[in-house]
This record gives sequence, C-alpha cells and structure tokens, in this order.
Amino acid sequence: MPQPPRFPIIDGFEFAGAASRMRGSWPVGELPRLRELLHDDAGSVEYELRGASDALGRYNLGLRVEARLRLTCRRCLEAVGVHLHEDVTLWLARSQGEIDAQPLTAEGPDGIVAAKDLAVRDLVEDQLLLALPYAPWHENCSAQGRTAPVERQTPFAGLRSMLRSRNRH
Ligand SMILES: [Zn+2]
Repeated sequence: MPQPPRFPIIDGFEFAGAASRMRGSWPVGELPRLRELLHDDAGSVEYELRGASDALGRYNLGLRVEARLRLTCRRCLEAVGVHLHEDVTLWLARSQGEIDAQPLTAEGPDGIVAAKDLAVRDLVEDQLLLALPYAPWHENCSAQGRTAPVERQTPFAGLRSMLRSRNRH
C-alpha cells in the first residue's frame, strides 16, 4: 500500500470505483476540531479507508478509525484516557438532494456528498466527534463521593445532532 500524503484529498467516486485502500495516522494535535474538546495533545489517531460498491451499485467508503485520546474527567477535571474504535460505511451521493431522498434510518449507513475533493482528515475527524463520550469520568475517580457531577449537560450534548444536520442539509 503506497504511503498517502499527510492530509490526503480523494475523489470519492474514483476511490470507491477503483476499490482503493488507504491508511495513515496523525497525532491528535493535527485534528484541530477534535483537539479543542480534549484534555491535552497526548494521543494519536489511526484510520483505514476502503472504497467499495454495494449490491445496489452504490459507491461507498468503509472507514475504520482507532484513536487513543485524553478527555477531561467531569468530576475531577483531570485527564481520562479514552480508546475509540469506529467502523462505519459512508455511502456516496452526487448531491444533497440524493441524500435527502433516502429514508432516514438509525441503522443504515450515513450518506455524504462526494465532491471531487473529499478531505480524508475531515471524514476521520467527523467520526471521532460523533463517537466521543458525552460525560467521561474515571471509573474510580478520586473526586467520587466528594463531588457529585455538577450537571449532566455536557459540552458534547447536541454535537451529534449538529453534525448530522450539517451533513444532511
Ligand atoms: Zn476523575
């Protein structure tokens, strides 16, 4: 497998049509939208992208992401390690209208509009933002018993719906 550029840009349909494969990794500091939500720069992100088409002749991208990150514990505000594994199928649409015409299902693959210049880093970052736990804390937090979580509302609440609506409208 050839080494991809640091921040690869792909033509989604071409990539899927050729059943291409790509993999790479970044330190978390190179994913700025994700980094904003983390405790610090420690950690890394690995991804593997697989182009394919399904039985209905639709093109899709299989995206596997693995990340080791440090979030902020909601109780003691210290770093808490998180290990994320995501494996998703993104089907490629030629327009937003094509996505909107599909019935929305909770289980089905996500649709994305495949421009000629799909930034792989953005795809990976979106999946990680969706996968971040809402209110991480240490299983045996030193603050436990002394301070109850102040509130269940977290900075991540609403992020999922925000990303969904950005992708769908
Ligand atoms: Zn804690």
